[in-house]
Amino acid sequence: LLLAYDPARRLARLNVNLSNNLVGVRLMYEVLDRAVGETETAGSAPLAVPEGRVTFEDVRFHYGETPALDGLSFEARPGEITALVGPSGAGKSTVFGLLERFYTPNAGAIRIDGQDIRAADTASVRAALAFVSQDTFLFNTTVRENIAMGRPGADEAAIRQAAIEANAHEFIMGLDQGYDSEVGEGGGRLSGGQRQRIAIARALLRDAPILLLDEATSALDSESEAKVQAALANLMRGRTTLVIAHRLATVREAAQIVVMDRGRVVERGSHGELHARDGLYRRLCDLQFNGSGAAS
Ligand code: ADP
Ligand code: MG
Repeated sequence: LLLAYDPARRLARLNVNLSNNLVGVRLMYEVLDRAVGETETAGSAPLAVPEGRVTFEDVRFHYGETPALDGLSFEARPGEITALVGPSGAGKSTVFGLLERFYTPNAGAIRIDGQDIRAADTASVRAALAFVSQDTFLFNTTVRENIAMGRPGADEAAIRQAAIEANAHEFIMGLDQGYDSEVGEGGGRLSGGQRQRIAIARALLRDAPILLLDEATSALDSESEAKVQAALANLMRGRTTLVIAHRLATVREAAQIVVMDRGRVVERGSHGELHARDGLYRRLCDLQFNGSGAAS
């Protein structure tokens, strides 16, 4: 029944209010695959993503008068984890916003597999991306529907497989109604760790080649944390991951750490390489990662 997937109808049925903010816009494109927030380039071709290589080339961007990126260059290689670290205001979130085409660079280019995303069809750019954060939006409906949002029309077997890989199947089966259980307003009937695993299951089902991960700043209890991390490991496997990193374990695992300050790359390397230097990364490690075994 095609009508069941009509975006407007689904939103109406789910009683969702979309204000014009990033949560709303992300919801629109992740769940509904709609191009919003950025005007379409006329006659633009869909993006082809054989590998998922992401390249920023001397990208400059300012929000009105406020500079955010000042000649940012780096490459995130296919299948690898690239961690973005830097003090608040360095421009990390702006990197995601530009990739997602909420904004367009004032100069420079952002490429996915060599194609300037500015010249590509916006919906196809967004279809290549999955965004996961601590506060990924859950609808006030069932567990099943919340996961299925990742790929409208997905069958039961695919939904279950995603839940299994997201380390969520077991707790879901423990809920009163299993997959038919209501998650409540904003997922309020679930714990924080359970909400994150539902969001990860949704992203697994979405199966986009490039993952944008905004890591949680507030800690879960250690058992929950271990389950979320195992789920994320499954999600990251085989994808290009760009992560705004807040955990020491993540930067240790990253193939590449891009250290940003005031919209520029100031250091780049592995945790071992960067920690051996007396630079910004080392200082951030001491502050941000709570000294929890930060010495390499
Ligand atoms: P980070 O994620 O590293 O903390 P951001 O990318 O959020 O950095 O911000 C980079 C700069 O852009 C900061 O100076 C910030 O104040 C500014 N900025 C971010 N978002 C907006 C916005 N929507 N409007 C105006 N300025 C913004
Ligand atoms: Mg930010």
